Amino acid sequence: HAAGGRYPADAPASEALFDRARAIVPGGVNSPVRAFRAVGGTPRFMVRGEGPWLFDADGRRYADLVCSWGPLIHGHAHPEVVAAVQQAAALGTSFGTPTPGEVELAAEIVGRTPVEQVRLVNSGTEATMSAIRLARGVTGRSKIVKFAGCYHGHADGLLAAAGSGVATFGLPDSPGVTKAAASETIVLPYNDVAAVEAVFAADGAEIAAVITEAAAGNMGVVAPRDGFNQALARITHAHGALLIVDEVMTGFRVAPGGWLGLDPADADLVTYGKVMGGGLPAAAFGGRAEVMAHLAPAGPVYQAGTLSGNPLACAAGLASLRLADAALYRRLDETAATIQGLVTDALSKAGVPHRVATAGNMFSFFFTDADVRDYDGARTQDVAAFKAFFHAMLAGGVYLPPSAYESWFVSAAIDDAALEQIAAALPAAAEEAA
Ligand code: PLP
Repeated sequence: HAAGGRYPADAPASEALFDRARAIVPGGVNSPVRAFRAVGGTPRFMVRGEGPWLFDADGRRYADLVCSWGPLIHGHAHPEVVAAVQQAAALGTSFGTPTPGEVELAAEIVGRTPVEQVRLVNSGTEATMSAIRLARGVTGRSKIVKFAGCYHGHADGLLAAAGSGVATFGLPDSPGVTKAAASETIVLPYNDVAAVEAVFAADGAEIAAVITEAAAGNMGVVAPRDGFNQALARITHAHGALLIVDEVMTGFRVAPGGWLGLDPADADLVTYGKVMGGGLPAAAFGGRAEVMAHLAPAGPVYQAGTLSGNPLACAAGLASLRLADAALYRRLDETAATIQGLVTDALSKAGVPHRVATAGNMFSFFFTDADVRDYDGARTQDVAAFKAFFHAMLAGGVYLPPSAYESWFVSAAIDDAALEQIAAALPAAAEEAA
């Protein structure tokens, strides 16, 4: 495949795998947005990654702008990350005891972020779910506030007006979430301080916590307005509630210390995931030592995990974080800006209405003229235009998130060849979107 060439619309090897998968796995996938439902067509089954490239079962090569939904800041199969995992695996895959690697990874996280103590878990879902339990345990209150279009994983109480796949599929709140669980979640519009003030004025004594994405990336990218996160800290603290800042997506991606490193706010609890596992399952929640002391075994709030702090995941995460120096973040920022420029030019030339939305090096393109500040704004976009754009980019060898409600992610492995492939795919894709 030469840059500028096009792959056929069918993908026989992926289609055969998808047929097999659908018979034995619901929808053929283990996480909904992977299924291409929002864009149509057959999801590509990937067999290998190398640097900026993904290779599918039909032997096609794609410049990857998903990066496993964020974790892979160094690209695929970075030799140092792979070596760290191989070395760890040779020593044993899991012990169910404390290990030195966990201490190293926790130290790396605490060293880069405002949190004083951290508990390692296996997924972002577990991190936010556990942070909420801890906030409820600490405050003795039950209600939580979340923002429409923010996604914090699939724990019951957080599936109200959630972003990511829930937004992609236009789902109402999920069946299976009890009325009782849903009734304890108050959903407000993102970036709306007045709405938060009003709800605390009415109900403040019952609210355990506000949870917010550090910068929203699950309704497409919607950065917090200046002072929004800080206002959340002020309001929660005035009412004896906690602020949980979810950095699962932004943490260690947009800056060494995550979004809070760029835009500090007085969070009581912070959740991490994705990048900190280097592509293996690892996540964390942390905060001030005095808050974290409420967790078992130091305190009464229970939380546990058979594979938490897994040695392979810790090794991958540590290798990945140790490679993430100031130069790496400069490169991610530059690469993101370059790609934004290429896409903006192509869409402008083709006369496609669009807005580029950024939060550090995370970005997405909304196919709309509206200024997107919240979920209602994100939903003004022309999803059909995105769909056409997505498929033309895929045919041109560029792997974008298969949904208009997701951030695009760059890696430092994106090189001139990958940029060329992206640039070559764009004109036809912009025409398709027009
Ligand atoms: N929080 C945020 C901000 C996320 O973006 C995600 C996943 O995309 C999660 C939580 C859930 O993480 P996981 O998919 O690892 O459970």
